[in-house]
Amino acid sequence: MKILRINMSEDAPEVKFEDLGQYEGLGGRALTSAIISKEVDPLCHPLSADNKLVIACGLLGGSAAAMSGRTSVGCKSPLTGGIKEANSGGQAGQVLGRLGIAAIVLEGKPKGDDTYKIYINKNGVKVEKDNSLKMLPNYDLIEKMKKEFGEKIACVSIGPAGEMKMSGASVALTDMELRPTRHAGRGGVGAVMGSKGVKVIVLDDTETTPRQPKNVEAFKEANKKFVAGLQKHPVTGQGLPAYGTNVLTNIINEVGAYPTYNFKEGRFAGARKISGEVEAELEKQRGGNPTHGCHRGCVIRCSGIYHDKDGHYLTKQPEYETVWALGGNCGVDDIDKIAMMDFLCDNYGVDTIEMGATIAVAMEAGLLKWGDADAAINLLHEVGKGTHLGRIIGNGAAFTGKAFGVERVPVVKGQALPAYDPRAVQGIGVTYATSPMGADHTAGYSIALNVLKTGGFVDPLKPEGQVELSRNLQIATAFVDSTGMCLFIAFALLDQPETNQALLDMLNAFYGWNMTDKDVVEYGKKVLKFERDFNLRAGFTKEHDRLPRFFYKEPLPPHNTVFQVKDEELDQLFNW
Ligand code: SF4
Repeated sequence: MKILRINMSEDAPEVKFEDLGQYEGLGGRALTSAIISKEVDPLCHPLSADNKLVIACGLLGGSAAAMSGRTSVGCKSPLTGGIKEANSGGQAGQVLGRLGIAAIVLEGKPKGDDTYKIYINKNGVKVEKDNSLKMLPNYDLIEKMKKEFGEKIACVSIGPAGEMKMSGASVALTDMELRPTRHAGRGGVGAVMGSKGVKVIVLDDTETTPRQPKNVEAFKEANKKFVAGLQKHPVTGQGLPAYGTNVLTNIINEVGAYPTYNFKEGRFAGARKISGEVEAELEKQRGGNPTHGCHRGCVIRCSGIYHDKDGHYLTKQPEYETVWALGGNCGVDDIDKIAMMDFLCDNYGVDTIEMGATIAVAMEAGLLKWGDADAAINLLHEVGKGTHLGRIIGNGAAFTGKAFGVERVPVVKGQALPAYDPRAVQGIGVTYATSPMGADHTAGYSIALNVLKTGGFVDPLKPEGQVELSRNLQIATAFVDSTGMCLFIAFALLDQPETNQALLDMLNAFYGWNMTDKDVVEYGKKVLKFERDFNLRAGFTKEHDRLPRFFYKEPLPPHNTVFQVKDEELDQLFNW
């Protein structure tokens, strides 16, 4: 595997392949975070030539391992000012692996304002100016790429929001149907791609073969056990395939942790109407599909295809986070309108979590009424057009809160909180506060134990045990994000030791390693150390590892609890 570096500063961008060298043994998040931490000046402006955008497949990317197609996108974040790894499904991770590319590193910055497209196949790399692509929304852009390069490609692209360098901009990755529906959403990674002048990277794995393990038989055997483990677990084998991640709406609403009206209440009266159960039924009725994988080799298939009332494709099945952010958090209970907003976010290239949280802040400011889905849709169009108001919204919740004088702005390190209120699930609050990424549920998904009782139980309403829980999950997650595996495998890993062992066996057979659980912990810690170290040098202090103060003061109905984990305890999280 090689690192592909493309320096955009030159008139004819410089392309070079190099060995992994000091990055040997790293993949996915470990690789993006190591490169950013070692090579980027932590004090640089995120949109400057000194920042880099790293797009990496996981350790098992491009192999026959099930679930191994995730892609990590890393940089210094324009949203948080700290290190960022945004993780996405889609085809790119597998295709990168098959092309023998562990990571693409976009460096420098073009002098003019030309727009570039990059085409990579087994024969090499072509970087071309193409100003006809300027300001194209993602769907139109991909149609154009299909016409030019055929259908056997995977694309990594930005929409207008990335080109306008908005801090809420995402990087889009195409799915199996070549639709730009998968997004490295968080932290404004799309703005960094925009600052490099790169609109789209087209990956073509024609005439390539899967990466081969060192020990073929042991690998096959471990992969078989791993898949059987995922299929046997009730969450990965039944719940997620049937209803997708939105199976969580009814569950989280029931436990009173569903942030409603910009984190004012923990239950939403309209939750049932936008639940995964309703979504799946509509998809079946309208000829969509409630069970679908976002990349080849996914056996959980938590995704789906959403059709509009007339039975035409509208978007992929909106995920729990999206349905919450643009739904309950804004008081919207119309699933079709939410699906339209999901499509618009994908098309303009913005993070649905950040946009939902931002629109709720705008509602709090009185800019639009709670529950007014049409006004929210208009706001998203403003983002896509880049009007003055659109540029404020596209820069996220913190920026919008400042622009309109709002006190209650749910962000940590400048990044919006996802769909679990930290007052009703204290463990996720610890993760939001302390993750080097800013508020991020996937960085240490305490919901698994606090709510779903997977791998044990820690009372969600009490502060005891939450720091340790979040610490362990943050370490384990940093490892899983490095393998290229979808994080949803964690449900089965937590409950079934044999499935956890099968993953290790697979890695060991692939690389000829002897990794044990202890090594997994060390690996995860190493990744977090890269990230913490970068943030420290970027000027972050322990005071940045805190939730907004209203979570400590305003009790959340129905439990009427506040966030109770003490600051001193949060400061112990990384003292392992
Ligand atoms: S489980 Fe869902 S998110 Fe994970 S790879 Fe499969 S479809 Fe994508």
